[in-house]
Amino acid sequence: MKFTVPRGTRDILYPEIVLWQQIEDRARRIFSVYNYREVRTPIFEETELFERSMGESSDVVQKQMLNLASQKVDVDGKPLLSGLSLRPEGTAAVVRSYIQNNLHKKERISKFFYIGPMFRGERPQKGRLRQFHQIGVEVIGANTASPYLDAEVIALSVELLKSFGLKRFKLKINTLGSSSDKDKFSGILRSLLEPKISLLCDDCQQRFDRNVFRVLDCKNKRCRDIVNSLDINYSYLSEESIQYYEQVKAILRDLGIEFEESMSLVRGLDYYTHIVFEIAFDSLGSQDALGAGGRYNNLVHELGGPQVDAVGFALGIERILLAGHYDENTISSHIDCFIISMESVGLRQAFILLNKLRSNGICCDLGYIGGSIKSQMRMANRAGARFVIIFGEEEIKNNEITVKDMNDGSQKRISLSNVLQYLKEKL
Ligand code: AMP
Repeated sequence: MKFTVPRGTRDILYPEIVLWQQIEDRARRIFSVYNYREVRTPIFEETELFERSMGESSDVVQKQMLNLASQKVDVDGKPLLSGLSLRPEGTAAVVRSYIQNNLHKKERISKFFYIGPMFRGERPQKGRLRQFHQIGVEVIGANTASPYLDAEVIALSVELLKSFGLKRFKLKINTLGSSSDKDKFSGILRSLLEPKISLLCDDCQQRFDRNVFRVLDCKNKRCRDIVNSLDINYSYLSEESIQYYEQVKAILRDLGIEFEESMSLVRGLDYYTHIVFEIAFDSLGSQDALGAGGRYNNLVHELGGPQVDAVGFALGIERILLAGHYDENTISSHIDCFIISMESVGLRQAFILLNKLRSNGICCDLGYIGGSIKSQMRMANRAGARFVIIFGEEEIKNNEITVKDMNDGSQKRISLSNVLQYLKEKL
């Protein structure tokens, strides 16, 4: 019997895993600089939470939700996993947690970050998986609809990407305005698109009724041409919404953050209001978005919480790795010391020494499987050992070991009881 990873998922092995750890470590460092706290929510939640937050008409809810199913019943006779789905994104769960834990009563403003897997039933292709990983933030609190916070999260996303070594990404921003501006906008869009509806792709013909904004970011060439030919302008925006947008842009300019305005940037989820943004990386092809986000001032209330404002974003780790073209050959492992033992008597003492060194914080390993000195030296080299300790026959008789400095090839006999001290001085 042969098992393979499920379609659209992958194993992350050494050396690639080192790149993941570097990205996660850098992200954590920057989050602490920005004073954001980590939140970990379950990887599955009630399906309805996602339907209500992302919108029943969104592509994710319509086509990509991975629902859990099981014949098992709970103690109360209810099906165990019914009504639950793997999380397709992070925002809904963070908001659910914010509400459930009454955080609005405990702090004026909550600044969260998360790093973890998300799940969508997509057709897998380059940069598009069924299990992928996001680094995201959410800033939630009453009266926090401040253009400075929009600018903060945008600056934070740019800072993260820079810290991963990415340069040629493009920040696109737009505003959808308030909920009532958005309603006006969808009316205008429908009337502009109505005469051309039969020319749209099948998906967009459905989107026309369900979620007309999505037509604007359809990847189909004909739909794009139609969208480009539309006379879209900001006539639907209230004076306040325009002012808010202008302020965000002015602050971004103050910070020296380059951006492009894109009126066709709308984001597919219902919950966004006002600022939306996306960061694209050209050479990634059709899946070119490294990340995206925006403001969602009504979602917490719509999910049963207090009327508080919120803004956030999520970056996709797989796409960051594709864009970064990181060279796995530059990754090498290092340990302080590798212990080689030539015979079973030696193995016992070697194992005791190994544990003594480890409990003193020295990174080391042992050639458990024996074999010739040569083959164990190869293991030591592969492990990137700085020192090799050899338990040979002669050495054991005299309660000694040979220690080899792999930097200069020099060797030295020292007494077993002095090894720890010797290594501590050298390392
Ligand atoms: P979205 O919520 O769709 O805007 O996703 C935010 C970011 O997550 C995207 O810009 C991608 O970097 C990443 N992402 C979303 N869906 C996938 C997927 N199926 N596979 C890989 N990355 C994804």
